[in-house]
Amino acid sequence: MAQIINGKEVSASVRKAVAEETAQLRDSRGLKVGLAVVIVGNNPASRVYVNNKKKACEEVGFQSFEYALDENTTEEQLLDLVNVLNRDVRVNGILVQLPLPKHINETAIINAISPEKDVDAFHPVNVGKIMIGDYSFLPCTPAGVMELIASTGTEISGKTCVVIGRSNIVGKPMAMLLLHKSGTVTICHSKTQNLKEICQRADILVVAVGRANFVTGDMIKPGAVVIDVGMNRLENGKLCGDVEFESAEKVASYITPVPGGVGPMTISMLMRNTLTAAKQQAGI
Ligand code: NAP
Repeated sequence: MAQIINGKEVSASVRKAVAEETAQLRDSRGLKVGLAVVIVGNNPASRVYVNNKKKACEEVGFQSFEYALDENTTEEQLLDLVNVLNRDVRVNGILVQLPLPKHINETAIINAISPEKDVDAFHPVNVGKIMIGDYSFLPCTPAGVMELIASTGTEISGKTCVVIGRSNIVGKPMAMLLLHKSGTVTICHSKTQNLKEICQRADILVVAVGRANFVTGDMIKPGAVVIDVGMNRLENGKLCGDVEFESAEKVASYITPVPGGVGPMTISMLMRNTLTAAKQQAGI
């Protein structure tokens, strides 16, 4: 039976470390850390994420600046705001909550954020840095997954790692981070053939597909570390991962639950990135 990786616990320890360093920098150097969160429109899920980010800022001692813009905000108006925030010295990190309304070009907005304040690590400069392994910010969800794997004591070097999903925010950077730790990495996607056989070879399996119960126990190598990034809302309102937990936990050595696995890590990694940004901007 697999051991459960407790994302809430790992996340709490990351936040505690960020809070301690933030307090220490404030007391010793008068440094204040600030995160600007921009939300456009009334997407209820985005609203929940933004509120959680605000709460996390309070918890670790950051200032948070929220900009809740009307659904009809134009791309130009949003670009103007990003430019103001790029110049605002109180703001160390800028997060524009995605998805944006359809009339706004997300790429144009991401590209306008100063790479030094791009705490989501979505700007092409930061994406390129991740590729070459010379990075300041790691994209939050894959960085959280790396913390969870580390919490199990599993050595990645030399291991067969399989990532299902090739999105820019999860799958691709995830594969890069595993590669930087010398894992032998395979990325799978919707056109992959023999997915089951590929998964069965994985010592470390990271699943980011967005389909409930997509990976079943018979696809998992005995003793594998299984990380379930998926967050799927079932018809009964329950949250469910991409991995069928009941069959998978019988085969894996470690497994993340949903909820309570990867989810809690993402915002904690955002806090860490914001602290890193503040230190870099202060020359620390
Ligand atoms: P996405 O952009 O929709 O990407 C899904 C990926 O899954 C795509 O690369 C797609 O392949 C692949 N896929 C789809 N069907 C497949 C199949 N039958 N076999 C193999 N691969 C298949 O999703 P995402 O943004 O990466 O998110 C993935 C999941 O993680 C979602 O459930 C999301 O809610 C969750 N998520 C959680 C967090 C968190 O904090 N816990 C953060 C971000 C995302 P193609 O490229 O070929 O289409």
